[in-house]
Amino acid sequence: MSIGVCYFPEHWPQERWENDFEKMASAGLEYVRMGEFSWSTLESERNEFDFDWLDDAVELAGEYDMQTVLCTPTATPPKWLVDDRPEILQKDPDGTVREFGSRRHYCFNSTAYREETKRIVTTLVDRYADIPHVVGWQTDNEFGCHRTVRCYCDDCADAFREWLEDKYDTIETLNDAWGTTFWSQRYTSFQEIDPPGPTPAEHHPSRLLEYARFSSDSVVSYNRLHAELIRDVNPDWFVTHNFMGRFPTLDAYAISEDLDLVSWDSYPTGFVQDRYQADPTRDQLRAGDPDQVGMDHDLYRGALDRPFWVMEQQPGDVNWPPFCPQPGEGAMRLWAHHATAHGADAVLYFRWRRCLEGQEQYHAGLRKQNGEPDRGYHDAMQAVAELDELGDIDHVAAPVALLFDYDNLWALSEQPHAPTSDYWSLLASFYGAVRAYGVQVDVVHPTTDLGEYDVVVAPALHLVANELADRLTEYVEDGGQLLFGPRTGVKDEYNKLRPVAQPGPLSDLVGATVDQHESLPSQIETGVSPTGTSNETYTFQTWAEWLDVDTADPLYEYCTDGIESGRAAIVEHAVGDGTVVYCGVWPDADLVDELVRPRLDRAGIAHSDRLPNAVRTNERGGYTWVTNFSSDRYRIEPAGSEPTWILGNETLEPFDVAIAEGEIVDGLAIDRV
Ligand SMILES: [Zn+2]
Repeated sequence: MSIGVCYFPEHWPQERWENDFEKMASAGLEYVRMGEFSWSTLESERNEFDFDWLDDAVELAGEYDMQTVLCTPTATPPKWLVDDRPEILQKDPDGTVREFGSRRHYCFNSTAYREETKRIVTTLVDRYADIPHVVGWQTDNEFGCHRTVRCYCDDCADAFREWLEDKYDTIETLNDAWGTTFWSQRYTSFQEIDPPGPTPAEHHPSRLLEYARFSSDSVVSYNRLHAELIRDVNPDWFVTHNFMGRFPTLDAYAISEDLDLVSWDSYPTGFVQDRYQADPTRDQLRAGDPDQVGMDHDLYRGALDRPFWVMEQQPGDVNWPPFCPQPGEGAMRLWAHHATAHGADAVLYFRWRRCLEGQEQYHAGLRKQNGEPDRGYHDAMQAVAELDELGDIDHVAAPVALLFDYDNLWALSEQPHAPTSDYWSLLASFYGAVRAYGVQVDVVHPTTDLGEYDVVVAPALHLVANELADRLTEYVEDGGQLLFGPRTGVKDEYNKLRPVAQPGPLSDLVGATVDQHESLPSQIETGVSPTGTSNETYTFQTWAEWLDVDTADPLYEYCTDGIESGRAAIVEHAVGDGTVVYCGVWPDADLVDELVRPRLDRAGIAHSDRLPNAVRTNERGGYTWVTNFSSDRYRIEPAGSEPTWILGNETLEPFDVAIAEGEIVDGLAIDRV
């Protein structure tokens, strides 16, 4: 278990560097990431290279026994390149050019930019091919940040048409698959199909979905170019990319197929403000939401089913969210433990020192701008010492799979059918319910082999191909516990309704079909009760489906006084050796809890009592972490004998972490004191 840091030597006078590396090394930092955004420093004009500074920095890292991760510098093409080849610039849907002056202004489909990429990456990797402490490469930086996955330039238009022709072969096939008779949208050739620009009303949903897929594929192919150039020179290097949190437009599973190591950039107090449906609480503004961060950890761990890295860990206050509160005392240490507990093998803080210039001056580092230690530095040093004690530990073994995929995210985002409908938040409802019992979750693509999972949760499989329906049926027949959420089985893979009732090819498995659906604003009262009783009422939000029950057993029915009253809302169906539950509403926390807990019990998964929202447990490698993302104090009460505490003890302080030897989650209770 390692801690590292991102360092920008080019921002500082060279006489400082040795002092910086000496301090990093003496603090126990094992990895340093360098070189991203450095193109204009490496090549001030075409073919005028200056590698001396990076050579010196890499050499210093080696002298201090630090492992170096280098980056391809392509996220920031320099001004001379943009002036020389302006066709590399991206365009907005309305044709506005995304100009030089920030970053990520290049188009993934630009032939010119791919040539330039090949030139700079080849030059760089050749230079560092034989440096033993250069251990791997990060491709580019945060592909797609600032809404740049989707570009609308002429190169993209051409590439989109080719992509469609490869997929559909004939234009008639496309017309049929999309259903272009509607609003007179039939095409006579692929050349007629443009990227989706401004229109009076919304675009055809099939065209939008294909543009989302095509745009993501364009990044996949651009990343593959980097990966191949790197591996050609030194196959021992790892290739990684730093993804972002809850990031909507790039298929991380597809990109990861070309990576050896998945990494991501974790900024908990930023994400909780701009990627979170609820208003964050005071504590969440200080430390983030453990499940929001945890779901990303589990997604990026699940992408290759192996340990991941946090390539950028929030070091203190940051510059980009609406508000920039100081993290809680110890939060920077807490996040490193939380990441490790979720399966990270290394956590690198971003950055070594607050920068004096440019767009990120309001972004903290481990050191202040005057070089003195900042709050994050003390936290990082503590994390170094504590995680080093653990040594190497095993990969996380999760008994529950949460099915997530970008096609469904894109399709539902294009037609949310309610302002409050949000795919991530729906996923988070189900994810949080499992995590509230201390159970580990792999967030995986539906094509993953599900045989190893005791429980599979599929919150919104909106697009379901027949092949997926067959595999899910087989999973349940073989004894799996499967929980579906609402809006499942609505459309085919082309984003078109099927000529049969929802959930389409899953209807036999579910044993029920959807008669009607409705979306509901918050001022409409909602409620369901266990079928045949009215003693308990559970609320839901945003979405409701009225089910026609066939061979399933009704579990819950609508109990509010309205046209839906008495209709089935949730059903359970025994199929083969397993059970499937279909939940036709977006359940609030108490209802989803009533659905998740029985699945865990029936599958025989050891779990804790329901945990407080800000406290989570993780088991990994023979240890149990208990993390506290709040300013409250808690008492940890294991069901068995008092465990051996490696770190902390049974009293969990605010924003603190405790680690016990062994797996202690079964029967564990945690209460506020
Ligand atoms: Zn483009």
